[in-house]
Amino acid sequence: MNFAKKIKESNRPFTVAGPCSAESEEQVLDICGQISKNDSVQLLRAGIWKPRTRPNSFEGLGAIALPWLVQAGNENNLPVTTEVANKKHVELALKAGIDVLWIGARTTVNPFAVQEIADAVKGVDIPVMIKNPVNPDLQLWLGAFERFENVGITDLSAIHRGFSMYNHPKYRNIPNWEIPIALKEKRPDIPIICDPSHITGNRDLLLEVSQKSMDLNFEGLMIETHPDPSEAWSDAAQQVNAAGLASILNQLVLRSREISDDVQIVLEEMRSDIKLLDDQLFDLLGARMKLSEEVGRLKRENNITILQQEQWTKVIAERIAARGDYRLTQNFVRQFMDAIHLESIRHQTKVMNPERGSSNGKKS
Ligand code: PEP
Ligand code: MN
Repeated sequence: MNFAKKIKESNRPFTVAGPCSAESEEQVLDICGQISKNDSVQLLRAGIWKPRTRPNSFEGLGAIALPWLVQAGNENNLPVTTEVANKKHVELALKAGIDVLWIGARTTVNPFAVQEIADAVKGVDIPVMIKNPVNPDLQLWLGAFERFENVGITDLSAIHRGFSMYNHPKYRNIPNWEIPIALKEKRPDIPIICDPSHITGNRDLLLEVSQKSMDLNFEGLMIETHPDPSEAWSDAAQQVNAAGLASILNQLVLRSREISDDVQIVLEEMRSDIKLLDDQLFDLLGARMKLSEEVGRLKRENNITILQQEQWTKVIAERIAARGDYRLTQNFVRQFMDAIHLESIRHQTKVMNPERGSSNGKKS
C-alpha cells in the first residue's frame, strides 16, 4: 500500500525511530530490537551517510552499514529508511533493499541535488520522505515534492525538522510552525512527520515539541534513539534510549481531530465572535492607514522625511511597556507594530511620491 496513505491512516503518532547514525552492527540491531517492541514505532531509521556541518566529525560508515539496517528491519518485521543525498546513495540503498528513502534538510535546499535524486529513482516504486530545507522557504520544500512527482514518484511524505538559525537560545533549529502549517494548506494530501530531535537538539525538550506537533495535527514523529545516547558518535545531546522514547510516547496527550455536533455549535459561535473582532481590527487598521496618508500629505506640504526615528522609537517603547495589559508577548508586539509601521510607510510614500509609484511590498 501507498506508504504516505498508511501514515495518514495509522493511529497517531506514526513513529520513525532509530539511531542518528549507524555505528556498528550490534548498535543498530540492539536499539532497533528494543524500540520495535513499542507499537507506535512503524519505521526504523539510521543514518548511513551523514551530512555534517563541519568536516572532521563522524560522517557515517557508508555502504557497509546498509545490510545492518536491512537486517534490523527483517528481524523486527518493520520497514527501514535512510538518508540519500546523491545518485550513488540511491543506487546503493535500493540495491541493499532499503524500503523508504529520505531527503535531508541540506539536500532539499539544493534543487540540483533534489533533481539528481529524483532522476535516480525514476521508474522505481519507492516511498520518499522529504525534510524541510534548512532555510525557512516553503517554495523550496514544495519544489522538492514537485521534482519527484514530475518523474512519477507520488508516494511522498514530509518531515519537519526546523530551520537553521544563528545562536538560538532554545532550539537547535527553530520550528517556524507556520511553514509546515502552510505546507498542509497547500498540500493536504502529504502527511507530515515532526522531527523534534533535530528541532530541539536537546532530549529534555523532545516531549514539549512532540506534543505541540500532535496538537497541530501532524501525523507522526521521527525521534533519534540510541542504546547509550550520551556516547553516540553524532547528535549525542538529542538522542534517547528505548525507555526514553517510550516515556515520551506514553506522556503524549492525543486530542481528537473530530468535533462532536454540540461542541461544533459552541465553537461556531466563538468563531463568529472572533470574526466580528477581526472585522473591527481590520476596520481600525484601514482607518489608521487613512490617517497615515493624511500625515503623509502634511509631511509632503512641509517637505519633511517620512521616518521620524525618535517618534517611532517612542511609540514602540510605549507599546511594549503596555503589552501586559493586552496579554501579548514582547515579540508579538514588536512584529505587529513593525508590520503596521511598514504598511503605514507604504501609504505615506504613495502620498508623498505619487509620481514614483509605490511598491506593494511583494518580493519578485
Ligand atoms: C538526520 O536525520 O540524521 C539528519 C541529518 O537530519 P537533517 O537533514 O534534518 O539535518
Ligand atoms: Mn541526527
